[in-house]
Amino acid sequence: MGKADHPSLAIGTDRQSNGNIAGAQPPIETDSIQITPPARVAAGLKSVLKATEVTLKEPGLVRGVAALARLNQFDGIDCPGCAWPDPDHERSLNEYCENGVKAIAEEATAKRCTPDFFRSWSVAELAAQSDYWLGHQGRLTAPMVLRESRDHYEPISWDDAFTMIAGELNSLSSPNQAIFYTSGRTSNEAAFLYQLFVRQFGTNNLPDCSNMCHESSGLALKEVIGVGKGTVKLEDFDLADTILIIGQNPGTNHPRMLATLQKAARRGAAIVAVNPLAEVGLTRFKHPKDVLGLFGAGTKIATHFVQVRLSGDLAFFQGLCKELLEEEARRPGEVIHHDFVQQKTTGFEEYRAALAGVSWDDIVEQSGIPREQIRQIAKVVMRSKNVIACWAMGLTQQRQAVATIQEIVNLALLGGHIGRPGNGVCPVRGHSNVQGDRTMGIWERMPGSFLDKLRDVFGFEPPRKHGWDVVDSIKAMHRGDAKIFFAMGGNFLSATPDTEFTAEALSRCELTVHVSTKLNRAHVISGRQALILPCLGRTDRDRQTSGGQFVSVENSMGVVHMSRGSLDPPSDQLLSEPAIVARLAVATLGDHARVQWMHLVEDYDRIRDLIAQIVPGCEDMNRRVRQRGGFYLPNAARDNDFKTRSGKAHFTVSVMEPIPLGPGQFLLTTLRTHDQYNTTIYGLDDRYRGVFHGRRVVLINPEDVREHGWKAGDRLDITSHFWNEGREELRTAERFVVVPYEIPRRCVATYFPEANVLVPIGSVALRSNTPTSKAVVVSFCLSNANDAAARVDESHVVG
Ligand code: SF4
Repeated sequence: MGKADHPSLAIGTDRQSNGNIAGAQPPIETDSIQITPPARVAAGLKSVLKATEVTLKEPGLVRGVAALARLNQFDGIDCPGCAWPDPDHERSLNEYCENGVKAIAEEATAKRCTPDFFRSWSVAELAAQSDYWLGHQGRLTAPMVLRESRDHYEPISWDDAFTMIAGELNSLSSPNQAIFYTSGRTSNEAAFLYQLFVRQFGTNNLPDCSNMCHESSGLALKEVIGVGKGTVKLEDFDLADTILIIGQNPGTNHPRMLATLQKAARRGAAIVAVNPLAEVGLTRFKHPKDVLGLFGAGTKIATHFVQVRLSGDLAFFQGLCKELLEEEARRPGEVIHHDFVQQKTTGFEEYRAALAGVSWDDIVEQSGIPREQIRQIAKVVMRSKNVIACWAMGLTQQRQAVATIQEIVNLALLGGHIGRPGNGVCPVRGHSNVQGDRTMGIWERMPGSFLDKLRDVFGFEPPRKHGWDVVDSIKAMHRGDAKIFFAMGGNFLSATPDTEFTAEALSRCELTVHVSTKLNRAHVISGRQALILPCLGRTDRDRQTSGGQFVSVENSMGVVHMSRGSLDPPSDQLLSEPAIVARLAVATLGDHARVQWMHLVEDYDRIRDLIAQIVPGCEDMNRRVRQRGGFYLPNAARDNDFKTRSGKAHFTVSVMEPIPLGPGQFLLTTLRTHDQYNTTIYGLDDRYRGVFHGRRVVLINPEDVREHGWKAGDRLDITSHFWNEGREELRTAERFVVVPYEIPRRCVATYFPEANVLVPIGSVALRSNTPTSKAVVVSFCLSNANDAAARVDESHVVG
């Protein structure tokens, strides 16, 4: 279908390739893209070489080795990459992965982005650069301001910056006109102070990156097992007979998880990968620390690969559970863990009856998985005493994400696979402290008990009305209901859906403020005025009046532990995130402040003493966080105690709602490359998928490529289709290079943030309001652009 064939409302189809807001999207570059066959093994020598290359290129040998020697060590620097946990007891000297090295190299880089740089480059010129280029201009060294109608950022003193923000905040007609965003890098101490300031200012508008990733997991799990977090510890993986890896690509996004899976594979555990793409990290792995193994064939990781259709996971897990129940009917008392189901759960009979009514034809059709394979995987689960289910954004960003996660819990409950060693559910968090920030109160809807404690300890009445999450914040800015946007870290514009809409939303603000370590696209799309406040990173030494400080973070398994930077900061003008919050609070709240803000940041132990009073599970925090490896937060479900209203875990009945595809339509998912961490672009290659020197590609099943008359290297324009209140919205992104790839028919994949422009702001997961970046209905037409041909290795799998 071509653009002219779309009959109804067209949003975006008439736009230029870069949309209405200049610079909202990166420039289109496809000329040098090279397509080769995907890699056959993850990590190994190439990983070691890449890590060495980026270390030499960015921080250099001395600074790089100094940081890496302390990375993920007991008194060292917590990796600013993902939230995969470190071993509780023993750690090796190099407790990190290739992407951890890249994260450190980016932050510890010797390059500097000084006021001179901003004098040379106008905002418009910066906006015309790629995200990769922007991110590689080095660490920011001084606060910068973009004044109204100016085209260059200029230096500003910290005092003037805080006075400016405070003036704007205090001139709002309601505190709810301000939005305070948090990214997952922010430490517990900074996050706690930040939410305290924001609530004392008078709003709960505290959206965070969790809204876009594991909100669906938190909501689903809290409802049915009483805790919105995972229930396993790292040591549970040593006991599991079966590990399900669902909608997750650990080889790129949580690389050290592969070492854990390798251990499990070597002792004979079944590892079942449920994913639309056969990701190399789950196929075969060479541990970079295993010097002899570097030259062998590597370890086979996944024993079973279930190539589920996009958004077909709910059907697949309903199929698994249906198999278990049917087998139980044939062999009563041998499949279901009846004692557990009777004593610890509710809703089993309703669930059994509902599943009996689901047709196998629907399950097979929706999941894309043959009945025999569902039966085969069910047998694997049935014979396993211990089962762990892990997942990531492949599940959480679907329309039925919450229902899908609750179906996985149903499977765990049937076999009693929760609340016992070697068993449990494990949503794997993608950013190092995203879980901790939520624990510290960064949430637009914190429970009343938390707010009551703030009131009792600090003597002010926190606002009770729920605030806006990410999607609602964007809509509020777009409507003009929100006027100030303050981001504690992150790259909001590139992380969020519907790029053009979000850019328009930000540009309608009176003031946009970003606390950042490096330049990114969010800095070039600003409100009437904009500020960049440069802060210390994880690797930097943090000295306050009382001496050197450390911060704390929480990993994916609920361990709170310390992180202490040791490198010289890139500039003596940088402030720590806690210091920025404190000075902002003093400037804004003035005499109304109920907290001795500057006293607190003189010594972060004082902040932790307050956290200990407010946050459940953080009692005696200053002592316990200094223990080797920190301490575990309480997790009742892990201990077989379900803190739901009934005191039991719940079976949930969900009904599949298939996403209809019209003729010529496909379902699209966004992905990261192996040279990317969230919105940070480390490089232009995706080594594991065989894509080099560029990112603007679309992965399509070879049969679909052939059927539509395309070929590898062709450029396609992609149009997304979304029905909103009876009208069809269309959004277009141009010139994506066709890469034939092993992915189910009528499913396609592209990288974000390039494809975010296609994700409609109104397309969200039911109940969690998470953008559905893994389920976008799209169609294609051949691009008119006459770029140079992409280089295609003839041995590549082409239909
Ligand atoms: S697995 Fe995650 S936390 Fe660990 S070193 Fe790699 S990126 Fe960092």
